[in-house]
Amino acid sequence: MIFKNARLVGKEGRWTIVCESGKIKAIHQENDGSSHLNSENSHSVVDLEGQLVTRSFADVHMHLDKAYNSEVKPNQSGTLGEAIEIGQALKEETDVASVYEKMLRGARQALVHGTTRLRTHVDVDPIARLTGVEAGVKAREALADWVQMEIVAFPQEGITGEPGVFELLDESLRMGCDAIGGIPANDPDPRTHIEKVFDLAEKHAVPVDMHVDESDDPNDLTLLDCIDVTNERGFGGRVAAAHCCSLSAQEPQRRQSIIEQVADAGIHMITLPSTNLYLQGRDDAVNPRRGLMPVKELLASGVNVTYGSDNVRDPFNPFGNANMVEGALILAHAGHMGGREEIAQVFDMGTRRSVALLDSLGDADSLVSHVNEGDRADFLVWDAPSSQAIVVNQARPRFVVVAGNIVVEREAKVKVSEDLP
Ligand SMILES: [Zn+2]
Repeated sequence: MIFKNARLVGKEGRWTIVCESGKIKAIHQENDGSSHLNSENSHSVVDLEGQLVTRSFADVHMHLDKAYNSEVKPNQSGTLGEAIEIGQALKEETDVASVYEKMLRGARQALVHGTTRLRTHVDVDPIARLTGVEAGVKAREALADWVQMEIVAFPQEGITGEPGVFELLDESLRMGCDAIGGIPANDPDPRTHIEKVFDLAEKHAVPVDMHVDESDDPNDLTLLDCIDVTNERGFGGRVAAAHCCSLSAQEPQRRQSIIEQVADAGIHMITLPSTNLYLQGRDDAVNPRRGLMPVKELLASGVNVTYGSDNVRDPFNPFGNANMVEGALILAHAGHMGGREEIAQVFDMGTRRSVALLDSLGDADSLVSHVNEGDRADFLVWDAPSSQAIVVNQARPRFVVVAGNIVVEREAKVKVSEDLP
């Protein structure tokens, strides 16, 4: 399939994108001769009429195994304590079929909003055991033609204090999980927890993707151990740390020193603005804080920072549409990122930077911001002049293209009654 008359982020002029065998075979600037189209006349041609083509979104942090659980049992207080209580109760009743359905529903919702790659954590603990992993492997296969899904084996309840969890994680990776998760602050022995996570990462040759310091308390700082072990094991580029809320609670000088250590270690950072805004700051008697990691400071120090949806309508957060455009808006508000370049940067965090994380690239800047020859032909077409306008207008993609095929198409026009004054 050929898409002509496209505009690209950061490039002047109109472009023709030639897709073949699921990849972008070529990108030609138009008016450099129409012979390209003539030579490709066996393909169907879509005239984009100057609409904007961008990379598609990669949602790097989701929990599709518990998505929509707030519809089953809402968290009335909104606190983390009640969320954990409800989560455990629901886990006991859950089965592979119901988790599978939730994953498909979540992935469909994400795809409609322009996400063609996603990474979901699935709980692996004494209650859930391998239910989420089994459902995830099935869902990943069922979704393969639409969404590239990665599964993280996530020891939500810890490792060292939970007999059998290490073996369950090992089995999860044998069953095909794509990455190993962790949550050191939720373990009585955070350092050993991290070491065990890395042991499994080395054994199965998978990247590490941990929940780190989801806390307002400056004393909760397992990030330092994550940095240490990443360096010791030579895992730069293959480690992601999500949340890191307590990094913002450090005094400025110490915070900057830790940020530089994160940059040197090559750790990717994932901020989760919707859930952080919702859950953090609840104990602050005055000026309840936002709870996000210091996104702008991290970016300024050269750290690859991305964002994700995290919880979608579950006991931890009753909101969420698996929509990265909505996530961008929340991040721009919460992270004080409203300058023109900053809004473009937010869009970049959900697209190019997220790909750098999922592909374990040591240097995110080795990727360009627009779609590129040789890439898988996954991209979005927008009736919007720029990536900033997509975020500000809360635009929805006109087309979602996966492996060169249009899989989501939206009507461009809204019909308004003639009676409207
Ligand atoms: Zn999470």
